[in-house]
Amino acid sequence: MSIPILMYHQIDVPPPRGTRLRGLVVAPTSFVWQMKMLSFMGYRGLSMSELEPYLMGCKRGKVVGITFDDGYCNNVENALPVLLDQGFTATCYGVSGFIGGTNIWDRGIMFEKPLMSSRDWQRWLDAGMDVGSHTRSHAKLTELSDVEARAQIVDSKHELERAIGCEVRHFCYPYGAFRAAHQQMVLESGYVTATSTHRGRVHLGDDLFTLKRVMVARATHPLLFFLKVATSYEDLRA
Ligand SMILES: [Zn+2]
Repeated sequence: MSIPILMYHQIDVPPPRGTRLRGLVVAPTSFVWQMKMLSFMGYRGLSMSELEPYLMGCKRGKVVGITFDDGYCNNVENALPVLLDQGFTATCYGVSGFIGGTNIWDRGIMFEKPLMSSRDWQRWLDAGMDVGSHTRSHAKLTELSDVEARAQIVDSKHELERAIGCEVRHFCYPYGAFRAAHQQMVLESGYVTATSTHRGRVHLGDDLFTLKRVMVARATHPLLFFLKVATSYEDLRA
């Protein structure tokens, strides 16, 4: 069993050439063909919550996880209608301290873009999508004390649950940075999975708190998208 968990950030028109991290902004037209291609290939795109039984080996099927990091407004504006068109679900990992704010952690590196407000999150949730946590302040856990790291992991879960009114079962490490102690904290805080930025598809028996993902970037063309999802292309690069 190989389950690709796709990692997206923004679905939007790309910022000007030369902008750092421009590659993380996938064009809306690309996202449309990517979702159509998954359907055509017989895959179902699922949120982390719907993917749980597959990750745990209780269910089998041709499924793909769909995740968005950071919680940009353009996920609701540009990705949500496309997901609904295909009957797919997805998880968006929000930063609980910046609901309705901007990605100020990227200041000086990348354009600041609006992040989803409580109303946007509500729309996301009401459409059948899933909410995950990406800490309180997009913190690099490896630079924090254990006490601070635990607060980021625990408090973000409760803040998101309070603000959006749903259970938050899934975590995503900002910058893909974590140590073994953080995996343990995530588990102890009541999350059931955590995704990383390690490359590769998930295989049965993999640790649920260091799940690998498949990055989809602006430059991911259709052949590459196919290779990443349906072959061992990403696994070989892990
Ligand atoms: Zn992030």
